[in-house]
Amino acid sequence: MNRFENNVVLITGGASGLGQAAALQVAKEGAKLSLVDLNDDGLQDVKKQLESEVPDVEIITVEADVSDEEATKNYVNKTVEHFGRIDGFFNNAGIEGKQNLTEDYGSDEFRKVVDINLNGVFYGLKYVLDVMKRQGSGSIVNTASVGGIRGVGNQSGYAASKHGVVGLTRNSGVEYGQYNISINAIAPGAIMTAMVEGSLKQMAGDNWEEAGEEFVSANPMKRFGKPEEVGHLVAFLLSDQANFINGSVIPIDGGQSFK
Ligand code: NAD
Repeated sequence: MNRFENNVVLITGGASGLGQAAALQVAKEGAKLSLVDLNDDGLQDVKKQLESEVPDVEIITVEADVSDEEATKNYVNKTVEHFGRIDGFFNNAGIEGKQNLTEDYGSDEFRKVVDINLNGVFYGLKYVLDVMKRQGSGSIVNTASVGGIRGVGNQSGYAASKHGVVGLTRNSGVEYGQYNISINAIAPGAIMTAMVEGSLKQMAGDNWEEAGEEFVSANPMKRFGKPEEVGHLVAFLLSDQANFINGSVIPIDGGQSFK
């Protein structure tokens, strides 16, 4: 399949995990890429790796903090200046933040997590939708979480931000369907990326691998998800095949959110 021939796909959080996996999937199917992340070294590594796996791929990278509105305008402008359009947007960058009961959850931590995971997604939507509306087409996938559709515990900032992403997705899906723009969210469960490894290390130190096994024993499929499985879902939602799916929040979690 070559679902992204001549398409430009913009991805935030492109230096790692789910962003990297989605980038590979759409690049294999012909997309040109604009990858955005705070971590420029990570972006350069991912760019090299993608160029070795997909030799004719065209990639630009933009170092930016998605919680900064001006930086968001800049990454959107740079993408349009270089490629002339944005067909797909994976609005994905996020952090988990420190885990704590609500009474012990730091207010600064709460603001930081919401700033990145929710305000960052809002800024991305605001400036990319402006471009897509003028084009008369586009598709957007926001990254929510299982923690955005049910209570997980110890994650006030994360839960608030990801429930907010679900709200933004439904609201903007209703607004922009008339412009031939589909906007959906994915709600991943535990997918083995740097973020999950970091969180297990925070909980269990050197015993993080055993803690991980115990954690996923509660999942109906008894395993972590793989980043490439999320990459396939994102590619489908960004493709024309999914054009009539709009305002939806799609879990990818082995069934965890239905237990
Ligand atoms: P990851 O840590 O591997 O990748 C996240 C990327 O986002 C990193 O490259 C990081 O540098 C970047 N980033 C963080 N803050 C940023 C900022 N302010 N500006 C720009 N870039 C920033 O983690 P991941 O698992 O790939 O997470 C991607 C998204 O998926 C996040 O929104 C996360 O909340 C969500 N998610 C992940 C899981 C999971 O199990 N891995 C589950 C549910 C939701």
